[in-house]
Amino acid sequence: MSSDPIRPLYIRVHPSDNVAIIVNEGGLSAGTRFDSGLVLAEAIPEAHKVALTDIPQGGSVIRYGVVIGHAEQHIVRGSWVHEGILTLPQAPDLDRLPIGTALSEPLGPLEGFTFEGFVNDDGSVGTKNILGITTTVQCVAATVDFAVKRIKAEILPKYPNVDDVIAITHTYGCGVAINAPGSEIPIRTLRNLSLNPNLGGAPLVVSLGCEKLQPTQLLPNNSLPILSTVPYIVRLQDEEHQSFGDMVSAIMEMTEKRLIQLNARSRTTRPASDLIVGLQCGGSDAFSGVTANPAVGYAADLLVRAGATVMFSEVTEVRDAIHLLTARAATEPVARDLIREMAWYDAYLQRGGVDRSANPTPGNKHGGLANIVEKALGSIAKAGTSPISAVYGPGERVKTKGLVFAATPASDFVCGTLQLAASMNMHVFTTGRGTPYGLAMAPVIKVSSRTALAERWSDLIDIDAGTIASGNETIEQVGEAIFRFILEVASGRTQTCADRWGLHNEFALFNPAPIT
Ligand code: CA
Repeated sequence: MSSDPIRPLYIRVHPSDNVAIIVNEGGLSAGTRFDSGLVLAEAIPEAHKVALTDIPQGGSVIRYGVVIGHAEQHIVRGSWVHEGILTLPQAPDLDRLPIGTALSEPLGPLEGFTFEGFVNDDGSVGTKNILGITTTVQCVAATVDFAVKRIKAEILPKYPNVDDVIAITHTYGCGVAINAPGSEIPIRTLRNLSLNPNLGGAPLVVSLGCEKLQPTQLLPNNSLPILSTVPYIVRLQDEEHQSFGDMVSAIMEMTEKRLIQLNARSRTTRPASDLIVGLQCGGSDAFSGVTANPAVGYAADLLVRAGATVMFSEVTEVRDAIHLLTARAATEPVARDLIREMAWYDAYLQRGGVDRSANPTPGNKHGGLANIVEKALGSIAKAGTSPISAVYGPGERVKTKGLVFAATPASDFVCGTLQLAASMNMHVFTTGRGTPYGLAMAPVIKVSSRTALAERWSDLIDIDAGTIASGNETIEQVGEAIFRFILEVASGRTQTCADRWGLHNEFALFNPAPIT
């Protein structure tokens, strides 16, 4: 249901806020009077901010109970508070952050929530049963893609228990500084992508032969799960391959042996604690932080209480709210790990001559987000209220339960790829502006911040959190719906919109090291 077009509405998040968000679709005109008595001094677009009080020049503009900027000029009550009249506050100083001062009381465990998953030899649990083909280098990518097309057409239909065959292709592997500082990130990302729980826990590798990233470096023996009798590598330059046809046949033969194994598996009932749910946002607007993200945050708290792992990421979107996160660190080492990841990224951006104000996109700003501070406060609402139990570097495998921070860039594809490497088996993605984003390796549940988007894109958006803005549902109701939907999708009983259409974005490696 759309919000009532006649009754003007705004949302104020925190009692100390001196701005609120206009809810009505299409915005409101000058002179509009709210129930509170507030009258608009000028027209304000939907999702943009209105001043609830006079704000003097230099005065603080407060949203979420936090200063998101300072007024560059005197702002009259009822005026439009946009990025052009706000200055960006300083980023929190990493040397003076509160640690563990805002730990929430544990809400108590949730028992009895389960899903139907595929148990792997290494103990991880998949929500899908996919055959993944790892590649060491881009040189083999086209050949593997060629083979995968034939496998899907000629072999896969014989193995109906297997959901998909995907090639993990990338532009890394050669022509790169393979021992440079930072190169461990793309290498461990490729390694851990190959070990994602949805791939059955036994990688197959296609290598060229002369590349820098050799299979033994990509997948050292100690990182390989116990392998059965199936050979797991095809090297295209080996002399036994006399032609392109030989190479493709070798890949198809290796693949079919593995397909037989995967097809013999079936889903079994597993506790919700086997879920590793990655959270992300993309194409955010000012509603994201009051509807979709808090609802996902409520679902995140339910997941944590059910014993699952919930992962949030996107360093540049949490950097300006880092003081609120260190205050939620379960222990001092966790807080120090958070600060370490922020400092690493500060230095990375500085090397590139970029500052944090580069984050909000034109679409974000058009959607009412004035700057990175406002975006960060809305973004961390996804992480709910649980203490942060661990921190992981980009591409590291997550090994702990509870709410964890896995450091990644905010780019949807780079973040999604790194969260898959971190072992994500379910993905929840919030959007306000809208994106048809999807991943092949894990189901992506898309939650819209506005009902207008959910209605316009009814075949792309899985859950509408805009009902919170229109007052038709509460944050708790939408959050619980997201939690239950995660269990349905993880069990294979329901498909996400992205999976129904087969919308699968490419893997995008994060490589902070030089390319040679
Ligand atoms: Ca993102």
